[in-house]
Amino acid sequence: MDLVLFGPPGAGKGTQAKLLVQLLGVPQVATGDMMRSERASGSELGKRFDEFMSVGKLVPDELVLQLIEGTLASETAREGAIFDGYPRTTAQAEALDKLLSNMGRTIDHVVSLQITLDHILDRVVGRRACFNCGQTYHLRYSPPPSSGVCSVCGSSQIKQRKDDHEDVVRRRYEAYKSETEPVLSHYEAKGVVVRVDGVGELSEVTSRITAAIGVETDG
Ligand SMILES: [Zn+2]
Repeated sequence: MDLVLFGPPGAGKGTQAKLLVQLLGVPQVATGDMMRSERASGSELGKRFDEFMSVGKLVPDELVLQLIEGTLASETAREGAIFDGYPRTTAQAEALDKLLSNMGRTIDHVVSLQITLDHILDRVVGRRACFNCGQTYHLRYSPPPSSGVCSVCGSSQIKQRKDDHEDVVRRRYEAYKSETEPVLSHYEAKGVVVRVDGVGELSEVTSRITAAIGVETDG
């Protein structure tokens, strides 16, 4: 099953993607993370990424698509993949359609997580992350240990990420509304979009997603 998780930044796509990876047994395609690790690996493609990323420029679509193609062709992604944070533009959606079609595949479902800006701010602005291992906390919903030491790795580098500041969140939400939301129309024309309420406990949202795409789970 090839599935796109869709929704504004802060809707919980990454977290839901990780849960769905376990339930569906297919890998997550998170292009941001993948580009960072490709760059760190020093591969030829990673070096091309570095030319753009090191000066804060957007990596051109065709380079990102090469990375996705490599992932989709791997054994682990033979049965499908979960796209998280991609495609962000209609041009990217069309390129992805073509790539999948060449492999005899298609996007089966686009899950659009429904959440308001107020809910996103509530969720994101209180978020804190361990800068050493990446573990995330939330000041109200899952507070970091009072010792200030990360419960996973023991580091004391628990801070607010720059991307989690309110002004950044608002700016990214507006960009999503104007640039990325049109991608939904592209998929709506294909009849593959399901809308899922993205507000609530993680497991509740996961259950709504699996119900919406017709996947049976044990609980
Ligand atoms: Zn940590």
